[in-house]
Amino acid sequence: MSDHTKIEWTDTTWNPLRGCTKISPGCKRCYAETFAERFRGVAGHPYEQGFDIRLVPEKLTEPFLWPGARMVFVNSMSDLFQQEIPDEYIEDVVRVMLEADWHTYQVLTKRSKRLSEMLSGRLRFAAECPHIWWGVSVEDRKYGLPRVEHLRSAPAAVRFLSVEPLLEDLGEWDLSGIHWVIAGGESGHGARAMEAAWVERVQEKCAREGVAFFFKQWGGVHKAKAGRLLHGRTYDEVPARSTAPIPPRKVRLAAAGKWAARVAHWQCQAGGGLVTLAVL
Ligand code: SF4
Repeated sequence: MSDHTKIEWTDTTWNPLRGCTKISPGCKRCYAETFAERFRGVAGHPYEQGFDIRLVPEKLTEPFLWPGARMVFVNSMSDLFQQEIPDEYIEDVVRVMLEADWHTYQVLTKRSKRLSEMLSGRLRFAAECPHIWWGVSVEDRKYGLPRVEHLRSAPAAVRFLSVEPLLEDLGEWDLSGIHWVIAGGESGHGARAMEAAWVERVQEKCAREGVAFFFKQWGGVHKAKAGRLLHGRTYDEVPARSTAPIPPRKVRLAAAGKWAARVAHWQCQAGGGLVTLAVL
């Protein structure tokens, strides 16, 4: 599967694990699940096992191999902080991000409590690196807003929110300590509608509080037709990305090579090939 993406706010997706389980209303029409399940049982396809959770250690070193510096959405097809994922594996993913620091990483989760605990503990070494952005999804008041509190309580250089799919007016809420907000409505057949007033209030709050705002889409059944104009314009604000120099290819390959033993370690847990959590 190509690592290029149509997601408007990033350049590339990186999926060192695949699959997930639903935990809140924002998951109801999960695009990752729909995509993955389409290929369940297709021999040799990356999603042969559908949306089942599994580690993909052979993907760990990909950031060293890409030419150029990219904005990277980490685990677009999963959630790094699911309870089934070992702490050690999460740390390895983060250590790769720390080493390949010419990219800018966007780590988005709905498991905000574990994110917060790990950034304050085991991942403290990387929490405040400016090229790793930590974010949570906020679809509504009940499930989404507590995640903002978890994120705010964690040490981080850049904190962001994915307010998508926005399912209701968020009411009065605290935006302090947040650096970037992405907002959008749900798309596809059966999409839940987003009222203009809900997203306008989010945009106005960001403008008042000096927070970068990115309007992704209105969504709906005909996403392309609905477009992404708000107040007759696009909102494409993004925090400043990493400016670390890109090492020569030879150096990057050597850096990737140093991870061979670790990749083999994770592969060995399952006797080679794809690692399934059932045998870890
Ligand atoms: S957390 Fe994200 S990837 Fe996981 S089921 Fe929900 S929407 Fe899908």
